[in-house]
Amino acid sequence: MLTLGIDIGSTTSKAVILEEGKHILSASLAVAGIGTNGPEIVLREAMEKAKVQEKDISHTVVTGYGRNTYKAADARISELTCHAIGGSFVFPEMRTLIDIGGQDAKVLSVDENGMMQNFVMNDKCAAGTGRFLDVMAGILHLDINDLSKIAAQSRKPVSISSTCTVFAESEVISQLATGADLPDLVAGICASVAGKVAVLAKRLGVKEKVFMSGGVAQNTYVRETMGKILGVQVYYSPQSQTLGALGAALYAYSKSNHIKQGVN
Ligand code: ADP
Repeated sequence: MLTLGIDIGSTTSKAVILEEGKHILSASLAVAGIGTNGPEIVLREAMEKAKVQEKDISHTVVTGYGRNTYKAADARISELTCHAIGGSFVFPEMRTLIDIGGQDAKVLSVDENGMMQNFVMNDKCAAGTGRFLDVMAGILHLDINDLSKIAAQSRKPVSISSTCTVFAESEVISQLATGADLPDLVAGICASVAGKVAVLAKRLGVKEKVFMSGGVAQNTYVRETMGKILGVQVYYSPQSQTLGALGAALYAYSKSNHIKQGVN
C-alpha cells in the first residue's frame, strides 16, 4: 500500500510517498509554499521519482500552515503531530524535537511512541525563525545554504542585540558599514536564531535526545550553537525538511490500516 504526505509550509512545499508505512519511495521539495503551485510541483516530482501514479496512492494526508488550501486530501492534521511522528520514525531515541521553519519555531517533548506530550512555539516574531535568516541572507547577498560554512570561519561572532527582525536588519547594515568581518557577522546572525530558540526550548524543558527538523536544521552552525547553549548534542537528519511530510504519510498509513480493519 502506498501513502502520500504533503506538507504545505510558509515558504516550501514537501511531499513523501511511503510504501507499507516503512519504505520511503520518494521525497520532494520545492521552495514554493502556501498560495503557490508548490504542492502540485512536489506531488508530480514525488510520483515521477517513485514511478507511481495518483491512482496507486491509497491515502493522502496534508499538513503544514497551508493544509486547508489543499482539497484533494483524505485528512488534514497539524504539523506538530506530523513532525513528532516523522522525527520518531527516523530517530526513535528522540525525546525533544526542535523544529525551525520559515515563519515559526516549535519545541516538542515526545514520548517513546512518538506521541507529542507538550510543546511551546514562537509564531509571533520572525526573529528566531528561518525568516530571520532569509532576510539577513538577502541583505548580505548570500545563499541561505552558505551561511553555516561562512559562520564557521568566524573568530569573534558579532553580537546582534536587536530582538526584532526589522531593527536587526538596520543593525546588520550598520555593522556592514563600519567594516565588520563577514564571517563574524554571519555567525552573529546564526547565533541570534540559536539563542532565541534555545530560550524557547528551556521554557519547555529539554529531555535528551534532542533532534531537529525543519529547513533551518540544515544549518550546522545554528544546531551546534543551540547545542552549546543547552548543553546537549542536537542531532539532525538530511531529511529534516521533509519530516513533516513523512509524518503525514505515516499517519496516512495508520489511518488507512484502521479503515481497512473497520476501526476508523
Ligand atoms: P516552512 O514549512 O514554513 O516553509 P521549512 O521547514 O520548510 O519551513 O523551512 C524553510 C526555512 O528553512 C526557510 O526560512 C529557509 O530559509 C530555511 N532553510 C532552507 N535551507 C536552509 C539551509 N541550508 N540553512 C538554513 N536555513 C535553511
